[in-house]
Amino acid sequence: MIGKHAGTRLGTGRDAGLWPVLLVLLTAVVVPTACVLWFMSQAVANERLAVRQRLIDVYRGRLAEARDRIDGLWRSRLERILSPSGTAAPGQVFERLVRAQAADSAIVLDLAGNVAYPVQPAGDDSFLNLPAWHEAQQMELALDQLAPAADAYAHIAADATDNNVAANAWLACARCLAKSGRSAEAMEILTGKLSAPTFNASHDSQGRLIRPNALLMALELSRSASQTATATARAAASRRGDASLQSFPALAKSLYAQVSDYSDLQLPSSQRLFLMGELQRIWPQCPSLPTLQSEQVAQEYLWQDVAPATASLKSAGPGKWLHLRPAGTNVVAIFDAKATLAEMAELAQSLTPRSEARIALLGPDAAPADFKDAFLRVPAEGVLAGWEYAVFLVGEDPFAAASQKQVLAYFWTGGLGVVAIAAIALLLAAYMRRQVRLAKLKNDLVATVSHELKTPLASMRVLIDTLAEGRCTQEQQVREYYALIVRENQRLSRLIDNFLSFSRMERNKKTFEREPVDIGQVVSDAVEAVRERFGPGQILEADVTPNLPKVLCDRDALTTVLVNLLDNAYKYTGQDKHVIVRAFAEPADVCIQVSDNGIGMTRRAIGKIFDRFYQVDQTLARKAGGCGLGLSIVKYMVDAHGGRVSVESQSGKGSTFTVRLPAMTAQGQEARA
Ligand code: ADP
Repeated sequence: MIGKHAGTRLGTGRDAGLWPVLLVLLTAVVVPTACVLWFMSQAVANERLAVRQRLIDVYRGRLAEARDRIDGLWRSRLERILSPSGTAAPGQVFERLVRAQAADSAIVLDLAGNVAYPVQPAGDDSFLNLPAWHEAQQMELALDQLAPAADAYAHIAADATDNNVAANAWLACARCLAKSGRSAEAMEILTGKLSAPTFNASHDSQGRLIRPNALLMALELSRSASQTATATARAAASRRGDASLQSFPALAKSLYAQVSDYSDLQLPSSQRLFLMGELQRIWPQCPSLPTLQSEQVAQEYLWQDVAPATASLKSAGPGKWLHLRPAGTNVVAIFDAKATLAEMAELAQSLTPRSEARIALLGPDAAPADFKDAFLRVPAEGVLAGWEYAVFLVGEDPFAAASQKQVLAYFWTGGLGVVAIAAIALLLAAYMRRQVRLAKLKNDLVATVSHELKTPLASMRVLIDTLAEGRCTQEQQVREYYALIVRENQRLSRLIDNFLSFSRMERNKKTFEREPVDIGQVVSDAVEAVRERFGPGQILEADVTPNLPKVLCDRDALTTVLVNLLDNAYKYTGQDKHVIVRAFAEPADVCIQVSDNGIGMTRRAIGKIFDRFYQVDQTLARKAGGCGLGLSIVKYMVDAHGGRVSVESQSGKGSTFTVRLPAMTAQGQEARA
C-alpha cells in the first residue's frame, strides 16, 4: 500500500497533556458565561420590575391628582349639604339642597332619625262613615244621580262643623257638578268657597290638602271649557263673568306657586309630586319645576326602604342610587348612581389617555372579578372610604415595549462580554498550549540530546582508549578504529547541527542566505557526505538531469535537507541497501527525490513523521541513532524556501521522499513566483 503525505502541519501531535489545561480554560469560559447569562436574565427581570415600578409611580401620581379633583367635587357638595339650614322645615331643607345642586335628591330626617321629608301624610277618613256622606256617595257613584248627589254634598258641607268635612263635601259637590256639566257652579265652589282661609289646612281622607286639589280640578274644568268653547262662547262667557273660560293661566300660576312653595308645611310631598306632574301635563307653558325630579327620586328611594345612615358614599338598592349621610347632619343626600359614577370616572380618567389605560372607580360592593387584570389598585378616602381606584392597562404588554430597549442593550453587553471572555480564553489557551509545548519540547530535547550524544561519545571513548593503551597492534585494525572514530564524530556533528538548526528554528532565529544554487552540486556534496557509510554491496546512486535550472536557496540548508533524507534512507534500510537520489525538473520546480528499499511506513505513521520528536518505532530509531528531529527540520527548511516535501511509502517496501523547490527562470527569478 502506498501512502502519500504533503502536509504543512508543524505540530507535536502529542497534546494529551493539554487536556487538563483545556478543561480549565473551558471552565473559565463556561462559568463566566453562565454568570453573564444569569446576570442578564436577572437584569432583564429587574428591568421589567423597574418599568413596572415606574408605571406604578406614574399612575399613582396621576391618581393622586385625579383623587384631589374628585375629593374637590365631594368637598364642594359637602359644603353645600352642610351649609346651615337654621330652623328651616324639612321640606325647605330638601328644596335648598336640590336647588343648590348639592345632591340629586335628599331625605331629611328629624332629630330622632326618622324620615321627616318626604313623608306620607296621615289622613282622617272618619267622615266617610257619616250616613249622609254614605248616601251622597251612593247617589254619585252607584246610582249616577249627579245633581241630587251634588245637593246632598252641599248639605253636608253647609251643616258641617268640622272644616275638613266641609271642605271634602264642597270638593265632592264640585266634582258632581262638573261631571253633570255645570262647570260654572263647580268653578264657583272650587275657586270661591274653597279658597276661604278656613280651609287652608283641610285635607282629605288620605291626608292630602283639599285646596290644591280643588285648584287642580278648577284648572281641568277651565281647560276643557276652553277647548270646547268657540270664540263667541268665550266672549259671551266673558260678558257673563263666567270664570271657567278666562282664568286658566291665573289658576295655573296659582297652582304652580303652591307646588313650588316649600314653606307650606301642610302640603304632603307625594301630593306635591302628583300636582307637579299634573300641572306639567295640562299646562304646556308651565315653567320648569326644578325639584320635580328630586321629589320623584326621593319617593322611589323611600319605596326601596334603604337604611340611610352612612358617612361614606354607598350604593342603595340595585345600584340605581348612591347615598350619603354626612356626619353631623340630618340629611341623606341621594345621587343618581349612573351620572355620579360617570362624572367621577371622567375626573379619574382626565389625566390618562384612554388608549393607554382605563381608570375605574369601584364601590364597596364591587366583586373580585371587577378587579381582575387590574394593574394597580388604590383605596379612596374620605367620602369615598371603602371605594377603590383601579387602573387597567390597555393594549399590548407595556412592560415588554418599555423594557425592550434596555433589554436589547443588556443582550448586546452580555453578548459582547461572552465573546470577549471566549476570545480571552482562546488567546490564553493558545498561549498556554504554546507554553506547555515548549516545556515538553525542552524535556524531550534534554532527554534526546543526552541520550544521542552519549552513544557516539561512549563508542569514541572506547576506541580512543583502546588506541591510547596500545592494545591494538595491527595497522589494519588501527585504521578501522580511526575510520570508526571519524564516523562517530561525523554522526555527532550531524546531531549537533540538527540540534542547533532545531533550536534556531524554534526561536525563529534561523536565517537563510539565499543564492542561486546548482542542485546537481548540492546532490553530489550530500551524496559524498554520506557515501562512506555505505559498505560493500550497498548501493548509493545519484541520477541528476543535466542543465537543471538553478534554485534560489541557502546552499547549506539544502545540503542539510538532503543529508537528513539520505541519513534516514541509510538508517531505515536493511543490510541490502539501495538508495537512489534523483534530481529532475518539473514545469516550475526542481525536484529532488530520495528513494530507498527500506522498511517503509504505515499510512498512519506517514501523517506524523514530520512532527518534532516523532519516531515511528522508538527501539528501531534508538538502534539507528535518531532523535525524531530530522524530518521536522527538513520540512521547516523546505517550507521556508517556498517548497514542498512529500512522501510515498509502503510498509516493508521502501520509501520515496520528494522535495520540490521553485526553479529560477533565465532572468534569475523564481518560475512559480
Ligand atoms: P530520526 O532521527 O528518528 O530519524 P526523523 O525526523 O528523521 O527522526 O524521522 C522520523 C521518523 O520517520 C523516524 O523515526 C522513522 O521512523 C521514520 N522515517 C524517516 N525516514 C524514513 C525512511 N526512509 N524509511 C522508513 N522510515 C523513515
